[in-house]
Amino acid sequence: MIRLTRQVFTDLAIWMIGLGLMMGIAFPFFMLAMGIPSTLVLTPWFFAACMGAGFIVGAANIGLARAVVGRRLRVLADRMRWIETNLREMSRDGGNCDLVTCSIVVDSEDEIGESAQSFNRLVEALAMSHRTDAAVRSFNEMLTSQLELDLLADQALSQLIQHTGSSGGAILIEADGELRVAAVQGIRSAGTLAQSDHIRRALRAEKRHVVSLPDDVVVEGVLTDFRPREVLVEPVCYKRVPLGVAVLANANPFTAEACARLDLFRQGLALALNNALAHDRLQRLAALDPLTSIYNRRFGMARLHEEFGRAVRQTAPLGVLMFDIDHFKKVNDTYGHLIGDRILLRIAQMARSVTREGDVLIRYGGEEFLAVLPAASREDTRKMGERLRRIVEDSSIADGDQAIRVTVSVGGTAYPELDVENEQVLVKYADQALYSAKESGRNRVVIV
Ligand code: GH3
Ligand code: MG
Ligand code: MG
Repeated sequence: MIRLTRQVFTDLAIWMIGLGLMMGIAFPFFMLAMGIPSTLVLTPWFFAACMGAGFIVGAANIGLARAVVGRRLRVLADRMRWIETNLREMSRDGGNCDLVTCSIVVDSEDEIGESAQSFNRLVEALAMSHRTDAAVRSFNEMLTSQLELDLLADQALSQLIQHTGSSGGAILIEADGELRVAAVQGIRSAGTLAQSDHIRRALRAEKRHVVSLPDDVVVEGVLTDFRPREVLVEPVCYKRVPLGVAVLANANPFTAEACARLDLFRQGLALALNNALAHDRLQRLAALDPLTSIYNRRFGMARLHEEFGRAVRQTAPLGVLMFDIDHFKKVNDTYGHLIGDRILLRIAQMARSVTREGDVLIRYGGEEFLAVLPAASREDTRKMGERLRRIVEDSSIADGDQAIRVTVSVGGTAYPELDVENEQVLVKYADQALYSAKESGRNRVVIV
């Protein structure tokens, strides 16, 4: 139909009234054909009456169209404008779009109903893109504010779980060819995940792997543990180097929206993990002695300071051992510095093997070591010193067909049996005890 104006109801009015008038003109001729005498129907009065009637019918029709269709179109337009205002406010203030504030009630099965349905779908797509935008923004903000590897993994996992609607998950990091669990939430068997075939396969293929009803994952439920419907394994690679995997478990299959979000998160996560791993390596490099891989003096003394503070706060004991290789100069002179280095490494390894998990080992000087023993009393410290002295005495280092044997002298003390005001005094007493051990013949333990 030709458009006459820019307003559909004006067009409709022109067409309807025009048609009514034309019917009014045609009607007298129709009456004539029906046998009514021309003196009655072909008169100006009769023409005027018919055209008047045609005009009234046309006008009544346009009135009806306005009342039936126009009113509903007006409601639709008003509702659309209201939703548009809501959406603008939400994208500014970070609100949420729900069914009441962001949808039109579809109450007819016609073009108007279809328009409302299409509008609702459009709003839903817009709201989803808005939610995704907000999720990516908050994820990236978190990633850029965190360099500590384990904290980063923890926070990244929380957000991954939240934004993909998962029931639980884990982040595993690859280090020295092994996968280690860096963060876990809600998964019972996280320790065994590293051995999982699905994870190894996803890492090798560098591709997402979705497993339905896996039998090796158990999720902690509110009332009871359950087996997830789906587990998603997302390898995290930086410049094609695998850094680890994110594992997400869900009671329901993952939605397309969740998978799309994960695609958006992966790049940022890989970059942040790479930075955190580099930071971790640098910190290790700065903290560890390169020959023996135990703490260097600077970082070791900082650790001792922390341990001493904790011991004072918790009124817990703290033992300190200082040990030094006997006649090491002679060993170096006889067998050379390389053998001397190997001996230093072996002594550090032996000390590691006799101490406990939380004990701190420090390369204090050239061939002088310090062992910080949290929760060790004076007697525990003496026993530990003796164990160390004996293991060194009983071991030998092979150099060709010769077995080189060395001994260590050990000095020690313990807080609070020795009541000192700071850790430096504790070290000073351990040093004096070591000096006594040397003076009294070496290869012995002196505790003050
Ligand atoms: P003592 O029983 O009195 O401790 O005698 P010592 O010879 O061990 O004592 P001294 O402190 O005189 O000698 C320490 C030697 O340790 C001197 C140095 O050559 C050696 N040394 C220090 N650091 C290293 C190192 O990193 N590698 C090697 N191979 N030797 C080292
Ligand atoms: Mg020595
Ligand atoms: Mg020395």
